[in-house]
Amino acid sequence: MERESMDFDVVIVGAGPSGLAAACRLMQQAQAAERELSVCVVEKGSEVGAHILSGAVLEPRALAELFPDWAERGAPLNTAVTRDDLYLLKDAEKAQKLPGALVPKSLHNVGHGTQNYIISAGNLCRWLGEQAEALGVEIFPGFAAQEALIDEDGIVRGIVTGDMGVAADGSEGANYMPGMELRAKYTLFCEGARGHIGKRLIERFDLGRPRPAALCHRLQGAVGRTRRAARAGPGGARLRLAAHRQGGRR
Ligand SMILES: Cc1cc2nc3c(=O)[nH]c(=O)nc-3n(C[C@H](O)[C@H](O)[C@H](O)COP(=O)(O)OP(=O)(O)OC[C@H]3O[C@@H](n4cnc5c(N)ncnc54)[C@H](O)[C@@H]3O)c2cc1C
Repeated sequence: MERESMDFDVVIVGAGPSGLAAACRLMQQAQAAERELSVCVVEKGSEVGAHILSGAVLEPRALAELFPDWAERGAPLNTAVTRDDLYLLKDAEKAQKLPGALVPKSLHNVGHGTQNYIISAGNLCRWLGEQAEALGVEIFPGFAAQEALIDEDGIVRGIVTGDMGVAADGSEGANYMPGMELRAKYTLFCEGARGHIGKRLIERFDLGRPRPAALCHRLQGAVGRTRRAARAGPGGARLRLAAHRQGGRR
């Protein structure tokens, strides 16, 4: 099938914490190296944060590495954890408090030198999305990656977004629009646990078994290449997908 296509340096699938953090980091590194980099994030939710599990306790060390000035930037970390209580829920009405000693040390929220926060993970993602866009990342909510684009040599070249306007019976409706190819030098799959594309890639490239040392070195090489991608050359115009969105073809 003939599809429209767009080219990016990096395409990231999923605007969860990992996809957005990766997008921000790539842009920060590109800017530090004074290089242009085109990074696109596709998110199947109608907006960034829409599909993110809401309540969470956040240990903010990684966030502080990404944005040391997260507080000044207004990151939504407003409720500090002050103590841990452990309860055994017996039924809908009864609970018994258990001694804190039963909680493994790594799960303690207080007393290990960092201040943890009770947050809305959805709001954190919305904030991360704003930071990413301010750094020049293009985020396309309402676009699901349908499958990985794999060439005849077995190399992942990007993704194909899902078709739009498909009727309930699978036929092409009046507003049918075939998905687009978003081609990239590097594609990051940040779909979260059990993402359907990730599962297929794990199967296709046999990524589920323990890695021998030689392959680990190759993966390290791939990480090195990804870092170099952050210093890579210019991106092209990004108008078509934006027009695609504005045209209401979600
Ligand atoms: C019940 C529960 C409680 C948790 N509590 C905590 C906690 O208290 N503290 C904590 O730090 N962590 C907690 N976690 C873990 C935390 O939620 C995850 O570590 C984190 O969300 C992983 O981020 P991610 O970006 O990898 O994936 P996700 O957060 O899953 O984000 C993936 C994103 O990709 C999008 N996506 C998926 N497939 C596609 C596709 N094909 N095309 C386009 N977009 C796609 C999704 O819509 C989503 O926005 C909890 C997890 C669970 C399940």
